[in-house]
Amino acid sequence: MKNSITRGLVLVFFIIASVNVFAQAVPEVGDPPNNINISDFYKSKLSDIEAVLNTVKTGKVETIATSPGGLPVFAVYYGEKDDFHSQANYNSAVAAGNPVFYAKKGHDTKPVIFFLGPVHGHEIEGIVGLLNLISIAETGKDKRGKEWATLKSNFDKCRVIIIPCGNPDGRKRNPYDSFVGLPIDVMTKYGQGTRKDGTLWRWPHVKAVHPLKGDVGILGAYFNDNGINIMHDDFFFPMAEETKAILKIARDETPDMTVSLHSCGYPPSILLPAYEPLFMKERVATLANNLNEHYKSIGLPYWTNGLNLESTIDDEKFPPKRSFNMTSALHHVSGSMAFTFECFHGTVSPKIKVPVVNHDDILDIQLNLYQEMFSYLMENRLYWEQAQK
Ligand SMILES: [Zn+2]
Repeated sequence: MKNSITRGLVLVFFIIASVNVFAQAVPEVGDPPNNINISDFYKSKLSDIEAVLNTVKTGKVETIATSPGGLPVFAVYYGEKDDFHSQANYNSAVAAGNPVFYAKKGHDTKPVIFFLGPVHGHEIEGIVGLLNLISIAETGKDKRGKEWATLKSNFDKCRVIIIPCGNPDGRKRNPYDSFVGLPIDVMTKYGQGTRKDGTLWRWPHVKAVHPLKGDVGILGAYFNDNGINIMHDDFFFPMAEETKAILKIARDETPDMTVSLHSCGYPPSILLPAYEPLFMKERVATLANNLNEHYKSIGLPYWTNGLNLESTIDDEKFPPKRSFNMTSALHHVSGSMAFTFECFHGTVSPKIKVPVVNHDDILDIQLNLYQEMFSYLMENRLYWEQAQK
């Protein structure tokens, strides 16, 4: 009898422990409650990621790293990997005059696209988008049942790597599954975190201490549990296992195009990367303009005054402002057309005039980005081939 009670208690303990692995933080008293009436197509919890990955049949799921908080970072791979006959790392190949020595990317190879899901754990819109992209890859339809024929057709012609969430520690510490209609300061509080006295860290101070330790009340979802902002890791000596795993995928897979998915309190846009070659920045600027025009044409939020795509020169004068960040590192380790995308959270602000969006709109912002990325790549791929003698 006693034994069976003990066994029962042990079982209960394990059930609670296994449920708690993904248990999400809750908002502090006085903050808006988490919205629990969210449609099935707008899911972004760690448990939702696990559930979707359990349904993957045509792709291959791998755990690529374990976070400081003990959580798995997953990647999903679609399409056979081509042999690129690599004989040098990227920068040595460039120094030899041709990236072909790093990867032979001819017409006989598939284009490769790498989707890096949020490394900032409160920027959940990218997780929502990527879980729907996995649904399209598996079924041809997003989780609303909507077909994406062009996207699916292009997807199937490529090698695609998807990391649904680059920072599970941060996602777990973020109490919100949607920021639609919430004050922008609530997003900043849980995204960038607070000091011990409760004041918000905010930019630029939130990046002035790294890893962020010491005067921390709420550790923001920007960071993993070691206080590392993966977007600004030390790329020549990475501090985070998540960063190493992300860079390794880029190096091994040679993605033609890579997006790092983020979100903010402004209309959505692709940002120009820092410290990439001019020809690559110009390609990103073209794609960014295409996307902005596309959003406009289908009635989604866009930049009405045009995008800031002029700053193709990095830091002409002291002090430098443009950082060599994750996007720059992804380019330099692989030659990829790497850029950051900023989605719109749907937050409201007394200071900024922003569009009103719902969950459908945010998912459409994500999926139309992916569709435009594939379309651009299929039409404008750079081939890395041996010069003809
Ligand atoms: Zn971000």
